[in-house]
Amino acid sequence: MTTPTLDNDSAWFSEIGAKEGLAFSLRVHGRLHAEQSPYQHIEIWDTHEFGKLMTIDGFVMLTSRDNFLYHEMMSHPALFTHPAPKRVVIVGGGDCGTLKEVLKHPGVEHALQVDIDERVTRLSELYFPELCESNHDPRAELHFGDGIQWMKDAAPGSVDLVIVDSTDPIGPAEGLFSAGFYRDVHRALGADGLVVQQSESPLLHYDSIIRPMHKAMREAGFGNIVTMPFPQPVYPSGWWSATLAGKNSVTDFRERDAQAKTFPTRYYNAAIHRGALAQPEFFLRSRAD
Ligand code: SAM
Repeated sequence: MTTPTLDNDSAWFSEIGAKEGLAFSLRVHGRLHAEQSPYQHIEIWDTHEFGKLMTIDGFVMLTSRDNFLYHEMMSHPALFTHPAPKRVVIVGGGDCGTLKEVLKHPGVEHALQVDIDERVTRLSELYFPELCESNHDPRAELHFGDGIQWMKDAAPGSVDLVIVDSTDPIGPAEGLFSAGFYRDVHRALGADGLVVQQSESPLLHYDSIIRPMHKAMREAGFGNIVTMPFPQPVYPSGWWSATLAGKNSVTDFRERDAQAKTFPTRYYNAAIHRGALAQPEFFLRSRAD
């Protein structure tokens, strides 16, 4: 379990992972906002070196300083893997950072963000306006509701890419890591469709989350699955991952298009994409188990 602490004298926000035996702290000037939404406890902190920090139920969601790593790796590898992504659905992602990256692709015709909690988006508009600058793009649609239900109701073959940008697999996000949800995703996707999901830390959660996620995705009919590790300084262990599952290959990507991309990024490029596909030894060893 993780518990937040704020020691007013030294003014540090800490996320303590008692089970993992680790903690991550950011020095803060103070807390700017706290509220209990119908779904979760949302807080905004003003840090010394990382800009604004959003936490949900005491867990770090994002900071102004390093969210680009996560948002770029949750979007561009998948978008450059699909041959021509036009219809994108983001499940979760209420801070709108992933939506902004998706809309950098001129070929995307419609990007729908389905987050269960409207308050996350309203607070992001206030405290992370730089992430919300594409919310009024005519291709963007914000829908507030449960992503699990949305996917159950989706018309078969109506989506090219699903991005699951969710909280950890507890509370309302728990079902987003299940074979039943992936089956609905599989049905909603078109012939070349793929899904990418944040899959926690390769160091801390390989056996507990990443391997079961692969199994559930396979059960749902996805024959091609790869987990791409990337750095994320503010998440537990500093090492995070995105798992890509597709009806077709997820390791071949439009490398030339990625090299010639027409928009700016701060982390993602074609070489980073290729590098993220390289699998650590322990991923490969466990596959043979
Ligand atoms: N980058 C973050 C991380 O890995 O910690 C995730 C950020 S984003 C703020 C996560 C979002 O998932 C939250 O806004 C939350 O409301 C949303 N969420 C959780 N369960 C959901 C569900 N069942 N349907 C739609 N959105 C959900």
